[in-house]
Amino acid sequence: MAANAAPLHVFFLPFPAAGHSIPMLNVAALFTSRGATSTVVLLRANDDSADSTSNSNRCGGGDNDDNDDNGGLRFLSLPFSYAAAGIAEGEVPLPSAYATPEFEAALDAVGEPFLELLKAHRPDCVVADLQIPFAAEHAAALAIPHLTLQVTCAFSLIVMGIINHAKPHLGVASPSEPFVVPGLPHRIELTPAQLPSHLTAPVAAERNRRILAAQRGGGGGGGGCSLGMILNTFRALEPAYVDMLRRAGRFSAWCVGPISSSAAARRRRRNGDRSAAADGECLRWLDRYEGPPGSVLFLCFGSQGRFTRAQRRELARGLAIASVPFVWVVNKGEEDDDDEEEEEEEERIVRVSGLGLVVRGWAPQVEALAHPAVGGFATHCGWNSCAEGIAAGAAMVTWPLYAEQFVNERLLVDVVGTGAPVGARVWSDRAEERGLVAAEAVAAAISRVMGDGAEAEGRRRRAREIAEEARRAVAEGGTASDDMAWLVAEILRIKEEKKKKMEEEEEEEEEKM
Ligand code: UDP
Repeated sequence: MAANAAPLHVFFLPFPAAGHSIPMLNVAALFTSRGATSTVVLLRANDDSADSTSNSNRCGGGDNDDNDDNGGLRFLSLPFSYAAAGIAEGEVPLPSAYATPEFEAALDAVGEPFLELLKAHRPDCVVADLQIPFAAEHAAALAIPHLTLQVTCAFSLIVMGIINHAKPHLGVASPSEPFVVPGLPHRIELTPAQLPSHLTAPVAAERNRRILAAQRGGGGGGGGCSLGMILNTFRALEPAYVDMLRRAGRFSAWCVGPISSSAAARRRRRNGDRSAAADGECLRWLDRYEGPPGSVLFLCFGSQGRFTRAQRRELARGLAIASVPFVWVVNKGEEDDDDEEEEEEEERIVRVSGLGLVVRGWAPQVEALAHPAVGGFATHCGWNSCAEGIAAGAAMVTWPLYAEQFVNERLLVDVVGTGAPVGARVWSDRAEERGLVAAEAVAAAISRVMGDGAEAEGRRRRAREIAEEARRAVAEGGTASDDMAWLVAEILRIKEEKKKKMEEEEEEEEEKM
């Protein structure tokens, strides 16, 4: 930032789900590390309902407004009614709970109070989740530049854009028949059954229109501008797709990832992520592990990934067949979570295999992946997890469940070359609708990642190479670091321009008097 210039003040508005708020906090920390003041506006429960059980609070975040103890971030909060949003007390919501009209109405109710905060603080820029279109509308109305945070990769934006436009999935006869996504530099096959519901079901047209308008310029009519989108990716990971996104030219794409491995994000987690500190069991187990480096498989299926009891049993059997050391994070809120008999059965299978640890609840994923003992990652392909696994140099067993995870899987398997699929076939956030992946298929995918053969070794080598590229991207002079520097410079330029224009207008006024 230029000497003597007033520091930038940037507002961040995360969507209240861990997979959205964690990357937003990391981006806020990146801005802070470049000299900006980052204020994160959190949506806090105003009705003592589900805030403590929804996973929005999994991202750390201060309890007090305006604190400064979370990697230099400041926090403000706005009241949000989880009850009105349709999220019941004690419930860990399914991802689809965030797409109901009740949830959207409760979210929109935060719009006015957010506008008041903007008027009171007048930040130099607003970075908001793509799913919160009012942020861009209000920023535009106040002539404040804004950015949207995309919580996915360039590849999935391109692939979903093409599917949305060309509808190649309508040309096949059954939901399980593969179609080729046209117009891509790689041969990418998907089936209709693997597509996110927003590509196959009629969507709320008005909300989509607002989201698109938010990306383009805010639609608020006040002269604010969209500076484009921030992505948690880096060019060397998916060069063809980052270039396609940039050539499409409608929005600037700032590729500043992987954001979890930046020094700013590490500091944020150390200072603010109490959930990680509380779940030390996983790291203690890894520290005590005496096997060769890179020989442990870490299994974690995101903040909301759940399996049926039958599927968990197949997974446990698959681990026993594959016979690799592992740490398996079982999400809270899984079916029969409090079924002690079932837990005992899973633990019995695990004990028989004698090789692993089952963690129930939340584990410090980034730290676990970075542990020298861990070499493989079984993931649901949520984009944060993909980016974290890539940064850690982990080869991946891919097991997509919902959202755009089946598309991300194709990136890992067909483009980057670090993923081996378990063969998941059906998109759904309801575990019971997905069909069973057999233990043998789980074991086969694990051995294609952790095994001794040339194929598995090739995947692990590729994973190490791409992690090295990631490290270079975020280091001084790397592509991600440069994108971040240019972005900050651009916001600063707009701020200076606005200031100059205001001064000129004041002078003109004075001359008139
Ligand atoms: N996560 C974690 N510990 C857990 C489960 C999840 O730290 O036990 C973090 C993970 O590191 C990632 C985020 O939660 O940053 C999950 O985001 P992702 O996009 O992978 O999946 P989602 O939860 O949105 O489906």
